[in-house]
Amino acid sequence: MERTLTKDTVDKVGHLVLLKGWVNSRRDHGKIVFLDLRDRWGVVQIVAGAELAGKINSEWVVEVSGNVKKRPENLVNPKIPTGTIEIEAREIKVLAESETPPFPLDTEGLDIDEDLRLKYRYLDLRRQRLRRNLELRNKVIQKMRQFLLDRGFWEVETPVLTKATPEGARDFLVPSRLQSGNFYALPQSPQQYKQLLMVAGIEKYFQIARCFRDEDPRADRAYGEFTQLDIEMSFPSQEEILNLVETLYIGIVKEVFPGKKITRIPFPVLTYREAMAKYGTDKPDLRKNKNNADELAFAWIIDFPLFEWKEQENRWDAMHHPFTAPKAEDIPSLYEDPQKFGKLRADQYDFVLNGYEIGGGSIRITDPKLQARIFAILGHSPADTEKKFGHLLTAFKYGVPPHGGIAPGIDRFLMAVLGEPTLREVIAFPTTASGRTAVMEAPSEVDENQLKELGLKTAAK
Ligand code: ASP
Repeated sequence: MERTLTKDTVDKVGHLVLLKGWVNSRRDHGKIVFLDLRDRWGVVQIVAGAELAGKINSEWVVEVSGNVKKRPENLVNPKIPTGTIEIEAREIKVLAESETPPFPLDTEGLDIDEDLRLKYRYLDLRRQRLRRNLELRNKVIQKMRQFLLDRGFWEVETPVLTKATPEGARDFLVPSRLQSGNFYALPQSPQQYKQLLMVAGIEKYFQIARCFRDEDPRADRAYGEFTQLDIEMSFPSQEEILNLVETLYIGIVKEVFPGKKITRIPFPVLTYREAMAKYGTDKPDLRKNKNNADELAFAWIIDFPLFEWKEQENRWDAMHHPFTAPKAEDIPSLYEDPQKFGKLRADQYDFVLNGYEIGGGSIRITDPKLQARIFAILGHSPADTEKKFGHLLTAFKYGVPPHGGIAPGIDRFLMAVLGEPTLREVIAFPTTASGRTAVMEAPSEVDENQLKELGLKTAAK
């Protein structure tokens, strides 16, 4: 017999069905036992004789064949979609037994020790709230893909084992076995590859991209890795990029979060200076009612400063990243008084939602001489620039189109829309607050032999 999903049982009154899933709960009533059976689509009540139910308990995996029966009026459960029926079990086959889970799965789970939840994340994910978060995440990503594919974008994968691409954080390094003593870096973003794809003539690129940054953990930042919708376009105006993303997010809210209301469409656009003067922050929360969980206030912040002064390092750093174009009228000043570099502005924009920065992007530098000047201001010697970024400067000698892009973060958007307290609540297997991976508990020690092959020695402990 074919499997019936719990959600389809209501249409099968009077039929014999075969159900498969987990036991959500067991209630004993003398000779009769009630088992709630759960699959990805919901729960349904099974009624079984005590003998048939045997020792079956919560989280066991079972196969039940039985008749779908209408419940008497007074026993209808309006709280679940299958509440008008129940299954009279004829046969139950145990597919797998289960130990008692280390924590309850039928609550929101936020009061349970988080390290314990992450150690048993595969159980934690059985909880309804997290299942819903994963489902919505999946829907958001599918919508992003479809939207961009419909507009002629190509999804292109870029390497994860690569060379450092600076986004202002520390790199994760991977030692090379074949070239002992050398290292790959995990990309902080696909920035350079997506720009190289523009040189290649791809024109419209996107990727659901994993980015790796070794930064100290914070509630609104995942440790180690996170996911972005990475976009790059050739020949775009800034307005075109902002409009594209704005249309996409209005569509996502309409289709995936129909209960939410966007405060203002079109999204307000503020210059960095205006935002700082009016709100004292470059990510203002523009909700009319900050207590309304269903209000979404998107905004654009544009015209960011090109550089920020790093007092400790006594040098200028890129506000976004070193590939961001200065405003055309500010370019001559790059060759004048360095004291005034703080006043220069960039073709850079941030995407903001309810007080969170949920993405950023820029129009890029395509003139190799200008790019070399920026690297020099950021403190790279010509030799260092050649070593780290020579490939990009060379590529730009072969017909580079004007280009620009953006990368909205997927985790932070979901956290804000779903009103979750941390990013970890919207990621299947996040790292713990102290930077250990869920379930598998990396980082971990490796065999001496592996180190030897890599030509590495760890410092004595
Ligand atoms: N690479 C940038 C980032 O990760 C986004 C962009 O400029 O497109 O923030």
